[in-house]
Formats: sequence, C-alpha cells, structure tokens
Amino acid sequence: MTVPVFRFAPSPNGYLHLGHAYSALLNQKMARDVGGRLLLRMEDIDRDRCSPELEAAMLEDLRWLGMTWEGPVRRQSEHFPVYREALERLTAMGLVYPAFMTRGEVKRTTEASEQGIEGWPRDPDGALLYPPGDRHLSDVEQARRIADGGEPYALRLDNDRALDTIQGTLSWEEDIPRHGIVEARPQDWGDVVIARKDIPTSYHLSVVIDDALQGVTHVVRGKDLFHSTSVHRLLQHLLGIDPPIYHHHELILDHDGEKLSKSRKDTSLRELRHAGTTRQQIVDMVGL
Ligand code: GLU
Repeated sequence: MTVPVFRFAPSPNGYLHLGHAYSALLNQKMARDVGGRLLLRMEDIDRDRCSPELEAAMLEDLRWLGMTWEGPVRRQSEHFPVYREALERLTAMGLVYPAFMTRGEVKRTTEASEQGIEGWPRDPDGALLYPPGDRHLSDVEQARRIADGGEPYALRLDNDRALDTIQGTLSWEEDIPRHGIVEARPQDWGDVVIARKDIPTSYHLSVVIDDALQGVTHVVRGKDLFHSTSVHRLLQHLLGIDPPIYHHHELILDHDGEKLSKSRKDTSLRELRHAGTTRQQIVDMVGL
C-alpha cells in the first residue's frame, strides 16, 4: 500500500494567522492518523509580495507550533522551468492565448456590453469573467501586439476549447466530513490566468503541477479554495495528472464572521506568541 502524502502550502507574503495554524495542524493530525508523510511547500511565485524574511518568519512560527515536516521545503520560485514546460504543452494543444486587457479595461468592456456589468457573468470568487475579445485575435495580430512590446499580457486558458476535450464530466473525491464525489464545474470560471504578466505560471498551474510532482495524495486546505478545485481538475485532465483526494476544511472566522487575513495583527501567530499565548492555547483556540 502506498503511504499517503499530505502537504501544507502557505504563501510567504505575510505572517501566519490562526487560520493557517488550523490548516497546518489539521494536515499534521490527518497525516499522523493514517501514518502518512507531511511536506511543506512555499507558494512564493509572487516575487513582489513574498520575501525570504517572511518565509523565515513562517518557518519559525510553524516550528513553534510544533509542526514537523519532511524536507526539503519546495519553493515554487525555484521551479519556473517546470511550469513553463507545462505551459508550452497547453499552448501546443491550442488552449492558451495572450490576454492584454487590464482590470480597468475588463470593467469598462463589461459596462459597455448589452447586459451591462450587473448582468455580466462572474466566477465563483466574484470576479468578472474575462471578455472574449482577445481570445479571437488572429495569430498575426497577437504576434504584432507582443512584438510591439509595450503591452504587458497574461496567458489565459481558453475555457471553451479546454472543455471540448472532456468526455462526460470531471469530478473529484472529497474526503471527510462528507465523503463523496463532487462534480467539477470548470465552466463557471471562464478563461483563467495560467501565467501572470511577469511569470510563467499562476497559482492554479503551479499548485496542480507541484501536488503531482510531490506525489501528494491528500490535499487538505480551506474551503475558500473548494471552487478552485474545478479549475485544478481541468488542468489535471489536460496535463494527464491523476487527482489527489481533497478535503476542504472549515475556515476560522473573526468575531464578525469574516475570513482572517494576513494584514490583521490580532490573529497573527507572532502577535499572539509575543503576547504570551502558548502553543496549547493556539491548539485549543482552533479547536483541535
Ligand atoms: N498557497 C495557498 C494559500 O496560502 C494555498 C494553496 C493550497 O493549499 O492549495 O492560500
């Protein structure tokens, strides 16, 4: 029997908070319960917001929390060639196009459309779907705008074409508390960014590739990423990757029922630690 592999995959763009503590400790607990391995991955593709100092602070907080993981830590910023290769495969399949519109242009285009911005479809995170204009540019026009060099562009996945490659539907196995099969709905996401303006990847692309390369069998993460799993299933299908089992856990919310954020001081592990909170108190606070 293969040994289950779990991972905790924070982005070092701020300090860890109670929500991360819950996710990290739950991963550790679930891995231990089944005699599995636990890996740590730094999702640091955003070179502007992530830094070695923040990564060092995260490692310190995790150690203080009593987390242990199997090394080495995988840093996404060290693997851009691997993501580029996957991007080239998707491009060769005719599924990728350069998207030139800024967020402001997307907004203005949808406002000027027949249905208006209110009637324009949005993705499960509430963002406006990318308008179709760039998807239909001719190869010559694409090449001209890229060669001009002045316009930054992201690379997006042509959702319609990608969906055409699916026979039947895609689904994934969701673990406890409600074990079952979930039908993926990649159609709800429109043309997602698979390479950001400055780098040859995006969250969606690198998470799918890394989970596969690291042999992850159980993805345990917050339910704010539940809908993203539909995009991940689509990318796995296109790249010939077997999906892991997913477990989307509850989120730790603040008193107002809002999701915690890295910019908040009161729930940061550093602040709590410096204020004298013990590890056991954190474990109790997150209900583990
Ligand atoms: N890096 C993501 C975050 O910090 C988590 C990604 C994942 O677990 O799939 O929100």
